[in-house]
Amino acid sequence: MPTLETVIKSLTKYHPKADTDMVRLAYDFAETAHQGQMRLSGEPYITHSLAAAQNLADMRLPGTMVIAGLLHDVPEDTLYTLNDIKKNFGEDVWRLVAGITKLGTLKYRGMDRYAENLRKMFLAMAEDIRVILIKFADRLHNLETLESQPEAKRKRIALESLEIFAPIANRLGMGDIKGKIEDLSFRHLQPEAYEWTKGLIAERLPKLDKHLERAKHEILNDLKAADIKVISAHGRLKHIFSLYKKILKYDKDISKVHDVVALRLIVPTIADCYAALGIIHARWKPLKGRIKDYIAQPKPNGYQSLHTTVFCDDEIIEFQIRTPEMHEAAEFGIAAHWQYEEHDKKALPADHQVSWVQELATLQREMQDQKTFMKSLQSLKVDVFQNRIFVFTPKGDVIELPEDASPVDFAYSIHTDIGRTCVGARVNDVLVSLDTALHSGDVVEIITDKNRKAPSADWLQFAKTHGARVKIKSESRGILSGLLETVVTATKKPFKKKR
Ligand code: MN
Repeated sequence: MPTLETVIKSLTKYHPKADTDMVRLAYDFAETAHQGQMRLSGEPYITHSLAAAQNLADMRLPGTMVIAGLLHDVPEDTLYTLNDIKKNFGEDVWRLVAGITKLGTLKYRGMDRYAENLRKMFLAMAEDIRVILIKFADRLHNLETLESQPEAKRKRIALESLEIFAPIANRLGMGDIKGKIEDLSFRHLQPEAYEWTKGLIAERLPKLDKHLERAKHEILNDLKAADIKVISAHGRLKHIFSLYKKILKYDKDISKVHDVVALRLIVPTIADCYAALGIIHARWKPLKGRIKDYIAQPKPNGYQSLHTTVFCDDEIIEFQIRTPEMHEAAEFGIAAHWQYEEHDKKALPADHQVSWVQELATLQREMQDQKTFMKSLQSLKVDVFQNRIFVFTPKGDVIELPEDASPVDFAYSIHTDIGRTCVGARVNDVLVSLDTALHSGDVVEIITDKNRKAPSADWLQFAKTHGARVKIKSESRGILSGLLETVVTATKKPFKKKR
């Protein structure tokens, strides 16, 4: 269990100059503030604050964020206010805790929980992406202690984590956090499937392990002979949820999944990565189509490595080859940014400077409003949530819609009356036809006419959302009557004005 001392130890390991006095002060402050409060598990509340802080320190994040982790629930759950935090810990910590508090209390009108939470996450992300990292640290511990929650709440939190937190972690390149969130959620959502998968792994592991050890021994010798330094060579076990998904894809046959375990080689330079790949292929025959060069072509979230799968005696083994920088980026994603930023002497290698993670980090500091942020996300081809788009009302509320949704879908998702009386739309201040496909980041304004009594049956040709289609079907009165009505209202209007 984390203690103040373990938190400080992890923090100073990567941030030797961190202000540990301030960390201790934050701990005392949080402990006093939460005095007498208990978690559902019966433990003192401060254990949760400590766990969140520990998770942040383990993500190698700087002192300010660890301090904010200790204080993250103070304004919401205690008599102490955000102002007290500002007075004692300064502007930066205050901003972080304020962001977390806002994320926790924002009320959403209408829409379902999914959209509500997404909106909160995006808003927080647009303001300060560090807030999301603290939220991850908080959520991880909540997931670890879900047992004490009632069943319904447990399932809801697990589902929300799987559907919202994990994809965002993945998109931010945080492979480690993503895997942890998924496995913890999976365990609560589908306990049987979870145990089944775990059982399969346990059954196969001893054999795979032995094999991996032998392959490791052989390849380390080869690399040594070729004068390639190996910084680390370790086995990595696939996360349970991602393995489960893969097993399902292969007709529940785990023997068809070749990366249950993989041997990971960390070598000093990119040239060493390619050289090592050559040496592996000289010893073992690679499987066709399984050599992946994510160094030359990184994944959209910035992930870089060389992957290859080889026939190694009677077994099949996957190798992952990368530099220390790539390894760090793969595990910590955007979180790695703050680690470097504190020792900014140690500049990022050139191949990293243009990565999506970097761009996003820079971007969020420059972006003031969510609208621009969303547009920039789009220009970076971010698809955190596939097949869904997020558009804005002129007031800045986020509306979630399926891909290719139209202004009519937008109108109906705001209110049935807006849908029914909708006659036109402006997208980003430009007048468009009602069948225009909307894109993430669009600001949509619906033009209504009170005199319009029914939707047009024509809208069914492009309306995408279930809600809109049902309403249109039940309320539209055919093309002719609709047309007639439009003519009537169109001719009526000028007369009214003249008189
Ligand atoms: Mn919390």
